[in-house]
Amino acid sequence: MPSVSPLSNRRVDLVPSETGVISAVAPGSLAAELGLRAGDRIISINEKPLMDALDFQFKAQSQDVSFEVQRGHLITRHDLHLEGDEYWGITFADPTFDGVRLCENACPFCFIKQIPKGMRKSLYVMDDDFRYSMLYGAFVTLTNLDEADWERIEREKISPMHVSVHATNPDLRVALVGNPNAGKVLNDLTRLQAAGIDFHAQLVLVPGVNDGEEMDRSLRELAQFERLLSIAAVPVGLTRYGLERQSKQVRLSRTCMRTLPGKQISVRRYETVEALAVVEQAERWQAIFRAERGETFFHLGDEFYLMCDLPVPGADHYDGYPQIEDGIGITRHLLENLDHMVQRTKAGDLAGATGTIACGTLIGPTMRQAAERFNQHTGAQLQVEVVENSFFGNEINVSGLLTGLDLITHLKEARIPDGPVYVSSRMISDRTHTLMDDMTVADISRELDRPFVPCGLMSDVARDLRQRRRNTSAA
Ligand code: SF4
Repeated sequence: MPSVSPLSNRRVDLVPSETGVISAVAPGSLAAELGLRAGDRIISINEKPLMDALDFQFKAQSQDVSFEVQRGHLITRHDLHLEGDEYWGITFADPTFDGVRLCENACPFCFIKQIPKGMRKSLYVMDDDFRYSMLYGAFVTLTNLDEADWERIEREKISPMHVSVHATNPDLRVALVGNPNAGKVLNDLTRLQAAGIDFHAQLVLVPGVNDGEEMDRSLRELAQFERLLSIAAVPVGLTRYGLERQSKQVRLSRTCMRTLPGKQISVRRYETVEALAVVEQAERWQAIFRAERGETFFHLGDEFYLMCDLPVPGADHYDGYPQIEDGIGITRHLLENLDHMVQRTKAGDLAGATGTIACGTLIGPTMRQAAERFNQHTGAQLQVEVVENSFFGNEINVSGLLTGLDLITHLKEARIPDGPVYVSSRMISDRTHTLMDDMTVADISRELDRPFVPCGLMSDVARDLRQRRRNTSAA
């Protein structure tokens, strides 16, 4: 439940029951040398309580560090004189000890507001926490930062940040974020830049609202920032619950929308012809950026290409995949990985191996082609099952938003071969290790009576099949 953290005095959720708990210590690190281990709890550093993992990283780099560690009932104090730049090797069970900071916005397209009851708890947390932006690439709006936060970002050089911009037109951003404070985004980015903070930008595009001329304006204005590393645009996602709740969301943001002359935001999905126009517009900008900067710089979410039945761009286009965490370029990354695997591995080394790949409808045709190539090279017989998202509605077509129940229902009805079922690891939450509906990998394996294996890439599938074959011959 949301609360106000005594540590930060901010609205938070998912407050850990114990703060500063170490979940892992890297071998050979300073923490290992000091005898720290998983389960220990760091309770203070330089006489002050710790706020989060970033706070620890920053304070632990001073020359004189004293900190207290609790193990069971025993508290030990360490006083160290360090050279600086030490490798501490500590992973915390929860990186933010005061919980996850909540957003103060009412975006009319908010996906969290479109999730029905009964899903895993962490899905309902409307987070907007700059620390997760740096640690895990979560996109933040910067609308909930107070002066102390800004000073901390500047002092500790919390970089890179990932900023949901959506539009640089102040009135339009206020309406799209549903917060009167959102219109100063260019000032916020200027402040980040002045502090030497790098950042990535994201635009969630709503047809007829912030694409077209507004997207031209956003790209033109964003491109002025030297510290901006990349821009990505993804299409708005609406579940069937989202469509039902739409009027409520519009009401929430109405005050902000009044500031938008002559425009009331209506959120709907992209039609193919509109998506094609976005691809063409993006290509014009990408050509400009490649000529001026030597990189594509502005990337479209894979959905835009796939919904227009266009091939996704080649690997060179993606500049090293700066926003792969957000799924940008994931299709090309999958195909590129398959190419490498085919070049590096012996043909026919998985002859006779069987299994299933289950995926969402958007990537279905690409996955079928990828599996065919995989099978031709390795001799395996992988079957692809394209699963409709009946939980959120079949408009939600990405693999990562499939529920355990939809997978089980589909796969039980399909005639799938013996062997494991492989799915995208994007279906599994890093935090809870469950799917959207709180089912675990073990639950689904049990229901399907076969291994259910989350994988990132086709090389992971090949590795798993080989390992199973080795295990079988060793048995
Ligand atoms: S989409 Fe907007 S309203 Fe929803 S959690 Fe993110 S910032 Fe908050």
